[in-house]
Amino acid sequence: MIPSVLPTYSRAPLSFVKGEGSWLIEADGRRFLDLGAGIAVNALGHAHPTLVTALTNQANKVWHVSNLYDIPQQQKLADLLVELTFADTMFFTNSGTECCELAVKMARKYWFEKGAPEKTDIITFDGSFHGRSSAGIAAAGTEKMVKGFGPLLPGFVHLPWDDEEALKAAITDQTAAILIEPIQGEGGIRPLSDQALKDLRALCDEKNILLILDEVQCGVGRTGKLFAHEWAGITPDIMMVAKGIGGGFPLGAVLATEEAASGMTAGTHGSTYGGNPLGCAVGCAVVETVSDPEFLANVSRQAGALRQGLEGLVAAHPDVFEGVRGSGLMLGLKCKASNIDVVNAGYDNEVITVPAADNIVRLLPPLNLTDEDIAEATSRLSAAAKQVEKAI
Ligand code: PLP
Repeated sequence: MIPSVLPTYSRAPLSFVKGEGSWLIEADGRRFLDLGAGIAVNALGHAHPTLVTALTNQANKVWHVSNLYDIPQQQKLADLLVELTFADTMFFTNSGTECCELAVKMARKYWFEKGAPEKTDIITFDGSFHGRSSAGIAAAGTEKMVKGFGPLLPGFVHLPWDDEEALKAAITDQTAAILIEPIQGEGGIRPLSDQALKDLRALCDEKNILLILDEVQCGVGRTGKLFAHEWAGITPDIMMVAKGIGGGFPLGAVLATEEAASGMTAGTHGSTYGGNPLGCAVGCAVVETVSDPEFLANVSRQAGALRQGLEGLVAAHPDVFEGVRGSGLMLGLKCKASNIDVVNAGYDNEVITVPAADNIVRLLPPLNLTDEDIAEATSRLSAAAKQVEKAI
């Protein structure tokens, strides 16, 4: 008999009733160190007092107001992000997938309004992940995601990751935009170099195409800058943001320049819940906290310490791990053993990590994890590695 919840997830046998900082707690009191943070969602950990206050204060005022009316919390968050980023304007969503939908629509509408309706193709890359909607799966294009779901949304061109020559050769008069994650998350923590991002920007300028960055996983302070592309000193035309921006409340945003957004006039897009008062009250609290230069400096400090711990772990367990990669607190342990075995051994040792493609174990901890959390992370991961070693 089919379970009452559609069985699209293979769930671990864990069930949490409470969260505190970097810790998740089961009903029997077992405490797990959460190095997954809901896959880069709980940017400030669990039950952060600032976020609890923002949410409960707003909950006592008004939960939901239609986008038919002004939503002051939405306006505040938009103004804050305009001040802090390249963006002139933005649209709020509830998830990363919805950002993908709008980013694709926005790029196509831009060229339509510019008198170039033939420019509809979006270039994407192997290993990318942009969500599970029709546009999202067509963008990723992998058999695993698209098989059985055809006919697919047309107009996506899939290229190898980080192959400049292939990219240059693929651009045609139909190319509307390049859509890319500065650091692939699901694809196995694969970062683009700063130079590669600079080259992408230059190529988009030269060929007159839009650059869409998907910072759903790598954005909102995760790399030690508010957004990952800042390290390369470039700006996109359109950017997808979700996950961390809500700190656990479903919230996303598509940020854009005035030029790129120019086709999106009244009636061209909408959402019932997107940018609702609860989400935006929490989003403001997250962005105000994370954008503080001291907070970001601390992300880089903690990332350095965690990475050092992981390098030691790799050196101590050469049969289990091959290396560490990533940026800031978006780290991947490249495994020699099965990454799934490592993640499962982590559960046995009360530490939560997330598998990714390319045999990677992903670490996406809360951005405010403490020195003690880092010490616990290395010792619990080391216990997990020993367990895997024994079984090899
Ligand atoms: N884009 C990236 C880079 C992601 O990592 C994800 C989710 O993992 C998405 C888009 C889709 O976001 P959501 O699951 O919130 O729809």
